[in-house]
Amino acid sequence: MNANKNIIIIGGGITGLSAAHRLSELAVKNGYALDITLIEARNRLGGVIHTVKQDGFLIDSGPDNFVTIKPWAMALVRRLGLESELITTNEAHRSAMVVRNGKLLPIPEGFLLMAPTKVMPVLTSPVFSVLGKLRMGMELFIPGKKNNKDESLASFVIRRFGREALDRVVQPLISGIYTARPENLSLRATMPRFLDLEAKYGSIIRGMRSEGKNRKTTESGARYGMFVTLKEGLQTLISALEDRLGHISFRLNTHVAEVRKGLKDRSQSWTVKLDDGTSMETDGIIITGPSKHAASLVRGIDPNLADQLSAVQYASSAVVHLAYKRDQIAHPLDAFGCVVPITERRNIIAASFSSIKYDGRAPDGSVLLRAFMGGALQPDMPMRDDKDLVAAARFDLDNFLGISTAPQFTLISRWPDSMAQYKVGHLGQIKMMREQLGKHQGLQLAGNGFEGVGIPDCVRAGESAAEDLAKDLG
Ligand SMILES: Cc1cc2nc3c(=O)[nH]c(=O)nc-3n(C[C@H](O)[C@H](O)[C@H](O)COP(=O)(O)OP(=O)(O)OC[C@H]3O[C@@H](n4cnc5c(N)ncnc54)[C@H](O)[C@@H]3O)c2cc1C
Repeated sequence: MNANKNIIIIGGGITGLSAAHRLSELAVKNGYALDITLIEARNRLGGVIHTVKQDGFLIDSGPDNFVTIKPWAMALVRRLGLESELITTNEAHRSAMVVRNGKLLPIPEGFLLMAPTKVMPVLTSPVFSVLGKLRMGMELFIPGKKNNKDESLASFVIRRFGREALDRVVQPLISGIYTARPENLSLRATMPRFLDLEAKYGSIIRGMRSEGKNRKTTESGARYGMFVTLKEGLQTLISALEDRLGHISFRLNTHVAEVRKGLKDRSQSWTVKLDDGTSMETDGIIITGPSKHAASLVRGIDPNLADQLSAVQYASSAVVHLAYKRDQIAHPLDAFGCVVPITERRNIIAASFSSIKYDGRAPDGSVLLRAFMGGALQPDMPMRDDKDLVAAARFDLDNFLGISTAPQFTLISRWPDSMAQYKVGHLGQIKMMREQLGKHQGLQLAGNGFEGVGIPDCVRAGESAAEDLAKDLG
């Protein structure tokens, strides 16, 4: 690569920052110089990652942790020298509860996302009816699907475990992660492991028990032992990236309006038009962030690509954080949080007991709760005004947790159009989108709209886009 190449990255979330970091690593490794400019519309970096400190509470107002089983975020943390900042979920209470008829009940021990791995806890659980339990047990005898076609979460769970398992536990657990409508959510694009277990073992229960033989889990809900965060919040990761990228140019408060093929007389170049009417010339571009935003940027150069990008739909969410003194809450808080089936018709879709899950989130004698609202099943909820949102969150939490007094303070974060909804057939659409993108040398796209929505996926997406762009530019 020539010494004078310049690159523009659009979007300063974890994807854009990971792309900038990887480009810088490649430049050092291969001994060339790059001029990198990262353009961000907000007045801060991090995108949906944002840590707030208030009255001794530490609040991650968007994502609050990431999984270690997908290695890319952990690898980045190590390269940034942040390993000593990592903390794991507390060992006590690694479980979740579910709302059933307005009451909080424990999700049976060993019930992980979609499938029970232990018999007794399910048999003795009041969450399911006798018929529902029998139907779940029949999963062991239902032959595996013959074809490898994508399937919705709802169709898969009903086929293998029955409607009750879907409605009472799986829908709310998965909604807490993907905020999606189960009838639409692609299993192949989100949790392919379950399809693979079916193909390999003929039964999910048999597969999970066989693969987890040596793991003595008392967890329920998610495998909480696989989650980590950073002591001072996820903002630490963003600040470390910003420090490491001291040599690149950050343009905050700058909104990109459009991307065009460039005017330079060199072989290939691009023009980035800003909202203020000015433009910048560049050799290569990485557009990050929600793909529906990327769609509007590339429409002028490739309407087909834009259509493919805007086919990935997004849902909005709101998180209400509530700070309490411990003695304001009657419930023992002996779990990491609760999920709420849509059939319960409540205001919130899930709540996280943040200071039970991780140390250092609330001062001694206090508790930090997070209530999640919105997603594909409650599209209007995040649009409500602040007063309404807090009242709606408080109504449910007061009911579930026996709270009768007002929180010390609340903090609301809204994340419009931030959660990508991977519909059945998503991976096939993304393959076609990538083929179309291949026609534009020097243009790369990355973000949570394509091959994974979690932080590790976004790190990988940003880094892959950087590597592909480096190849593009020779
Ligand atoms: C509430 C919430 C909770 C979550 N919880 C978790 C979790 O616990 N663990 C986990 O792994 N994942 C979680 N996720 C998912 C994960 O955090 C996101 O998918 C990921 O952080 C997205 O990063 P990104 O950089 O692709 O996009 P973003 O963070 O959205 O960043 C994109 C950036 O691009 C900027 N931008 C967009 N268009 C333009 C433009 N035209 N010009 C200039 N700038 C532009 C935006 O301002 C934004 O800052 C959560 C997501 C949300 C919303």
